[in-house]
Amino acid sequence: MARDNPIVVYLTEPRHHENSPRYPDMSDSEWEDSLPWGSICDFPRGFTMAGAPSSYEEQLAELRAKFGGVYENDEPHFKLMYSKTLERWRVLRLCPCGLSTCSTHVIPSEMDSVGELGVAFAKEEVMTMQSARSWWEARGQLVVMTPTAVLPAQPWADVCTFPAGRELRGNVVIGQETIELQAHFGDHILQENQGLPLLLQKCPCGTTSCDVHIFPATVKYEHSFPLEVHRFELQAKINGKRRKAKKVMVPVGDNFRLLNPMSFADAKQWWSNSGLHCSPIISSGNIEIQMICKCGNAFAQVPCADCAAKALGKCKCGAIVKKRKLKNGLCHDCVHKQVVECPHCKLKTTRGHRCRARMDNPHFSSRMNTTYPPLLRNKHDKKGICPDCQQIVSYNKYHVHQNRCHSGIKPGGGYSREYKLLKCFYCDYSSYDIFTLTTHQKSHITILEYECRHKCGRRFATHAAELNHCKAKHGGASVSTPSLDSFVRHKGRIVRRPAEQIKLVAQSDAQKKKDLAATRAELAKVQAEIKAVDKAMEERAAFRKAQQEKRMELALKEPFGI
Ligand SMILES: [Zn+2]
Ligand SMILES: [Zn+2]
Ligand SMILES: [Zn+2]
Ligand SMILES: [Zn+2]
Ligand SMILES: [Zn+2]
Ligand SMILES: [Zn+2]
Ligand SMILES: [Zn+2]
Ligand SMILES: [Zn+2]
Repeated sequence: MARDNPIVVYLTEPRHHENSPRYPDMSDSEWEDSLPWGSICDFPRGFTMAGAPSSYEEQLAELRAKFGGVYENDEPHFKLMYSKTLERWRVLRLCPCGLSTCSTHVIPSEMDSVGELGVAFAKEEVMTMQSARSWWEARGQLVVMTPTAVLPAQPWADVCTFPAGRELRGNVVIGQETIELQAHFGDHILQENQGLPLLLQKCPCGTTSCDVHIFPATVKYEHSFPLEVHRFELQAKINGKRRKAKKVMVPVGDNFRLLNPMSFADAKQWWSNSGLHCSPIISSGNIEIQMICKCGNAFAQVPCADCAAKALGKCKCGAIVKKRKLKNGLCHDCVHKQVVECPHCKLKTTRGHRCRARMDNPHFSSRMNTTYPPLLRNKHDKKGICPDCQQIVSYNKYHVHQNRCHSGIKPGGGYSREYKLLKCFYCDYSSYDIFTLTTHQKSHITILEYECRHKCGRRFATHAAELNHCKAKHGGASVSTPSLDSFVRHKGRIVRRPAEQIKLVAQSDAQKKKDLAATRAELAKVQAEIKAVDKAMEERAAFRKAQQEKRMELALKEPFGI
């Protein structure tokens, strides 16, 4: 329903408001019969009426006639307010949202503005903020709009040259520049320069360069790694599925540049809370940022020489490889070539042999992989046998297994073994496995993103640390995950080994071990006995020999006997 008349609001309480106009004393009024509208009504700016009727109904009818009309959305142009105690009217001009001061609309007649343009602007209809700004710009005047005023402005870009990255955008009210700069930059000076003056911040001692404060805007950085925090945001499982993690990058170095001058101690504090596992060495005008090595000391390059050397091990074949890549002292290549009994074909041959054990319904990959051999598996099976180690591996994680366990195998058999080496973003560390690398990279970041799953309040940098904590402090509740040991090859298929069977296998393994130990002990006993017998016989032989010799000697001494 369209409303042609303004809404009327009745006020029962007189409004005591600082900004309310002072009302003339009614008893002194000279117009008893015909009141001037001006003394019984507050009009919006630019509106007046002459000679008011004395009765309320007539007043209302006149006001309604003058201030009727609605916007396209049926909102009235005006609101009439009547105070019964003061017997006084107030007319408010409204925007299409029904407000007298609005954040999207401008009521030109109600705005404080200056100059000839201001007078012209006041005559305009209600418009949006955006079109009001354009109205002024079209007439060659930059302005800043507040809800109640239009103020002449100039662009910040014409005021001064700001420190890099801290440029103020938009316009500033003419005359307010210093106040605004003070609010954004604190103590500062505008230094004369060719063209625009240069904004220089002052340190707490009030100068623009000193030996006890750091000026982030101009300080020199020394670093061997990017001053950025790179990590993946942890995302909660949604409907049981883990969403792909979102990459987050925090430009720590650039963020520091945006700060106000500060003391060395504050700068050190800031850097140690920056999220990078680093140690800043701060001197006047210079910050050297060193990484914390695994050993706990800070170095320009990590890992430090000692730690790098410690991480290396030697295989029996003489190859120098990373210690964590050695399995029972053997490198990947030696493990691959080791002669073992194959659990599938029962042959005694190299671990990486071409196994003849039959698959039920073998799957042949159409995708050619020239780096490493494909997983042997049955069609539609999620698990298969790794041809390099004969272990049962999940198809989805086969590439991870290859990168982790076989990246050191030498080329051969038609496979290039050119595994892709991935480098740490921060240091000299490298790995063939992306998960290992991501975990390593977390060591350069101090953000503890893994919360204890039992909500005890502890937080950890890595998932592994959280798991260890849960095992140690919460008895390992809700941390067990099935391992690949729980799968077996059964009649040409790979099946989950029931818990009972796993237990039996473990028991039989323990029994076998025990039996073996018993056999060995028996053997040792027998051997000891044999040795003892041998020794006794030897002793006897020696005794006999000695007797014989003695007799011979006697015989020689007394050749003819007694
Ligand atoms: Zn509005
Ligand atoms: Zn200072
Ligand atoms: Zn170290
Ligand atoms: Zn080796
Ligand atoms: Zn085999
Ligand atoms: Zn393998
Ligand atoms: Zn690293
Ligand atoms: Zn906990």
